[in-house]
Amino acid sequence: MAGLNILISGAGIAGPVVAHFLTQAGAHVTIVERASEPRTGGQNVDIRGHGLTILRRMGVEEAVREQTTKEAGLRFVDANDQSWADFPVDDGKGFTSDIEIMRGDLARTLYDATQNRVKYIFGDSIKSMQEDSSGADVELGSGRSIRADAVIAADGWSSNTRKLAFGQGISHDAVNDLGQWAAWMTIPHAPSDNQWARWYNAPGKRMILIRPDNGRNTRVSLWVMPKDRRLDELAKANVDEQKAYWTEMFQDAGWEADRVLKALPLADDFYMQKVAQVKLTSWSRGRVVVAGDAGYCPSPISGMGTTVAIVGSYILAGELAQRSDDVQLAFKAYEERMRKFVDVAQKLAPGAPSMANPQTALGIKVLYAFLGFVSWTGVLKYLGASFNPPASGMDLPDYDFGNSGKKDS
Ligand SMILES: Cc1cc2nc3c(=O)[nH]c(=O)nc-3n(C[C@H](O)[C@H](O)[C@H](O)COP(=O)(O)OP(=O)(O)OC[C@H]3O[C@@H](n4cnc5c(N)ncnc54)[C@H](O)[C@@H]3O)c2cc1C
Repeated sequence: MAGLNILISGAGIAGPVVAHFLTQAGAHVTIVERASEPRTGGQNVDIRGHGLTILRRMGVEEAVREQTTKEAGLRFVDANDQSWADFPVDDGKGFTSDIEIMRGDLARTLYDATQNRVKYIFGDSIKSMQEDSSGADVELGSGRSIRADAVIAADGWSSNTRKLAFGQGISHDAVNDLGQWAAWMTIPHAPSDNQWARWYNAPGKRMILIRPDNGRNTRVSLWVMPKDRRLDELAKANVDEQKAYWTEMFQDAGWEADRVLKALPLADDFYMQKVAQVKLTSWSRGRVVVAGDAGYCPSPISGMGTTVAIVGSYILAGELAQRSDDVQLAFKAYEERMRKFVDVAQKLAPGAPSMANPQTALGIKVLYAFLGFVSWTGVLKYLGASFNPPASGMDLPDYDFGNSGKKDS
């Protein structure tokens, strides 16, 4: 594919992974990223199965392993911080995968691995695209023009490139609201923090998750399932208004809510987001194709977003490398190979997220008793296909990306 010009929108996880393999195969790759520098925000993400194999093929496995949070597992606790169910890391097929890393550390590692061979343009974004029989003329917000053989939308679940290529309606309809909202932030370490992620349910379908990061601080996420459509508006409001909402929602939640709410005003990385999945009936339009969250976000509650983005990006690069004379055929082959893997990753546990967020104190007791039984009998790994990507049955192809390609050792 030497000489092919590929433009990628988004320098998150999917963008740099697909860029890495495309440049190995000889393509010229430009990534345009809206933020003014690589975004190193975000909390703990999981890398499972094939995702780790691909990072090994990129040559970054060691760097990734050095930065893991060493989370011991997931513990469901009551208001007295007593555990009702412990799910240790085990074999990586439970709630906690064997590679838990801060999203920012992973994003930085992938950026570092690609910055010398990929042209990064920060602080810009695709404004319009005009296709003809041999490529696409792309105009960026800055006024700069780029001619590309293919455009890859890797700009996250609310992808603007998807909107430009598929149309506002299709792009909007692709986002499936799961009825839950979450807010993430970093707070100072406290004596009660340890290597376990601690999950606490409060009545009213509220949940607090406190997790270790890689040693510096503690990461918190708050979760609600409101019937309140105003949250879409709140998500666009200023951060102080958002913080006021979450403070009100959790002030009587119990457990460590007071500690979290005390730290909330000072959290400079606070952000809130709708919990949603992206489902498109087709992953490409003309010379534009989606990768990662932009095309098939499985939602943060799946624990599979990062793995699916890495695997999808690798397959997309591999199919493009094999069929560089017909990028649209390559897009179809990518979708054909990857669909089932995505379907499995998007399959949430039965009743999720509702069943994991009971309305009443009694409901929470029943949930915790059930989870206690599940943890004791060890049947979790047989319940959650989505935690076990190889269950999708997809063998990872071993593409030839050229001489500099790194394969499994
Ligand atoms: C700041 C941040 C924090 C996150 N935190 C978590 C977390 O705590 N837990 C979790 O499970 N998942 C989190 N995610 C999502 C997670 O990274 C993805 O689910 C997964 O890794 C797939 O990655 P992706 O590359 O497809 O999307 P993302 O990682 O979302 O990357 C998309 C990239 O596209 C850029 N972008 C967006 N719009 C445009 C545009 N119009 N033009 C150019 N660039 C654009 C974004 O700035 C971002 O760099 C976070 C994402 C971001 C961006």
